[in-house]
Amino acid sequence: KMIGSGDAIADFIERITEAAERPGRRDRDILLERMRQDRPDATQIDRADSTYYAELVRRERFRVDAQEVRTYFDFSKVRQGLLDVTGRLFGVRYTLVDAPAWHSDVTAYDVDLQGELLGRIFLDLHPREGKYKHAAQFSLVPGVAARQLPEGALVCNFSRGLMEHSDVVTLFHEFGHLLHHLLAGRHEWVRFSGVATEWDFVEAPSQLLEEWAWHADVLRTFASNDAGEPIPAELVAKMRAAHEFGKGYLARSQMFYAAVSFQFHTSSFDDLTEAERHLQSTYDVFPYVEGTHFHASFGHLDGYTSAYYTYMWSLVIAKDLLTAFDMENLFDTAVTTRYRDTILAAGGSRDAADLVRDFLGRPYNFDAFARWLNSAERPAT
Ligand SMILES: [Zn+2]
Repeated sequence: KMIGSGDAIADFIERITEAAERPGRRDRDILLERMRQDRPDATQIDRADSTYYAELVRRERFRVDAQEVRTYFDFSKVRQGLLDVTGRLFGVRYTLVDAPAWHSDVTAYDVDLQGELLGRIFLDLHPREGKYKHAAQFSLVPGVAARQLPEGALVCNFSRGLMEHSDVVTLFHEFGHLLHHLLAGRHEWVRFSGVATEWDFVEAPSQLLEEWAWHADVLRTFASNDAGEPIPAELVAKMRAAHEFGKGYLARSQMFYAAVSFQFHTSSFDDLTEAERHLQSTYDVFPYVEGTHFHASFGHLDGYTSAYYTYMWSLVIAKDLLTAFDMENLFDTAVTTRYRDTILAAGGSRDAADLVRDFLGRPYNFDAFARWLNSAERPAT
């Protein structure tokens, strides 16, 4: 793991909890204030009510009309936009090829980097009977230098017509894994090929690429409505503000889950519910709900074992990586090329912490994530 040790997990949980303290309380208090309009005697809000009131606050404060947003995300324009944007960012070119595939819905592209063939990708992006129901990237062939070119597939379930913006973000995310697979496909040893990094770093490049799906300058290159009008920058700002509402308390809840995951595996408790109650009061901004036993339905407790922290860790690293980019010019190829060659192309051949240090010119830290947590959303006017 990139994090290095168990002690570092405990330290990470403490530090993120501290960074999320103020923004967590701020947004929770907004929820409580809204709840008091319905129940004037309410003195606290629990997790069950928080989901409902977060939806209300998003609708009332940020006023994002999901139906309006969808009109800018026609699938075919989004798919072409994704290829154009990533082509510009990483200097790659996609050529549609008539390759054998498992279904007529699947499109295949050969990908080259300045004339050098990197490999082949398959996009299987729409739902059909009996198909895998989620969105994921799969490796079909791992790349090995001078022996075989990598091949990979995206298997998703997007609409053939207008898409939700969250699906556009998912598409960028999963495509990030696919590019990582291809760009890191020229190693001598297959063990280091493609998305072969430490488990707690593997999501960071994809979480980073999601940023491009949240910026008006990027979206406006392909997201336009039927009349050909690009998505307004003000709408993108509102979408982003609504999306980011609650990031502080969500980080606190994640640290509560991470603490349960870590401590239930490293300590012995006579009464797990009592331990959970204590951890929740320490790390979460929402109170324990009497009579509940959250850990009994926490599926990740055995899936992730003690390492649920990874979920937040890779986002912290992604925010740190983002500091190297010019937010006014996300297409600055001097930075994206260096990122491609330093981080993506390396695959699993070196420690992620070293790759990040080489790219940033300093060791990773949590500052960018803390700044992001503490930045306030701009409510709709
Ligand atoms: Zn992912």
